[in-house]
Amino acid sequence: MSRTAIYPGSFDPLTNGHLAIIQRGLKVFDRLVVAVANNVSKRPLFSVEERKQLIAQALDGDSRVEVDSFDGLLVDYCRKKGVTTVIRGLRAMSDFEYEFQLANMNRKLLPEFEAVFVMTGEDYFYVSARLVREIAQFHGDVSGLVPPNVDIELRKKIASRQP
Ligand code: ADP
Repeated sequence: MSRTAIYPGSFDPLTNGHLAIIQRGLKVFDRLVVAVANNVSKRPLFSVEERKQLIAQALDGDSRVEVDSFDGLLVDYCRKKGVTTVIRGLRAMSDFEYEFQLANMNRKLLPEFEAVFVMTGEDYFYVSARLVREIAQFHGDVSGLVPPNVDIELRKKIASRQP
C-alpha cells in the first residue's frame, strides 16, 4: 500500500528549508502533495500559480511529488484528496507552539487527521520564506537559501516592483 502525505504551506517563495523537508518526507512517504495555500489575507509576493511553477521547476519533474493549491480549510482539502496525513517542518520552539495548536484543531475538525513533523537540519533552521522575502527586497544575497530558479525569479519580481 502506497503512503501519501500532504505538505501544506504558503511557499512564498519555496526555500531550501522547504526542499529539505520534501526530500526527507520522501524517505517516509511514497508520494507527497505539496499544497500551496491560497491565503489572500497574507498579501503574497508571488501568485499561487507562480509559487506552484517555482516548486515544480525546483523538483525537476519528480514523479513522486504532485504540486497543487487549495483555498479554505486544510481539512476540507484533505477530505477532497482522500489524504489525511500532513507533513510539517519544525524549526524553533515558536513553530512548536503554533503547530501543536494547529494539529489539535485540525484533528478536532477531522478525527482521521494526522500530522507528522520533520525537524529541520542545522543548515536551514534559521531559514523562513518571510526572511528570504525581506532580504531580497533590500537586494541582499539569498542564493544559498533558495533554489537557483527561485533566486532568479525573486530578483525579477523585486526589480519589477521598484518605483
Ligand atoms: P515559512 O517558510 O514562511 O515559515 P510556510 O507556510 O511556507 O512558511 O511553511 C510551510 C511549512 O514548512 C511549515 O511547516 C514550516 O514550519 C516549514 N518550514 C519552512 N521553512 C522551514 C525550514 N527552514 N526548516 C524546516 N521547516 C520549514
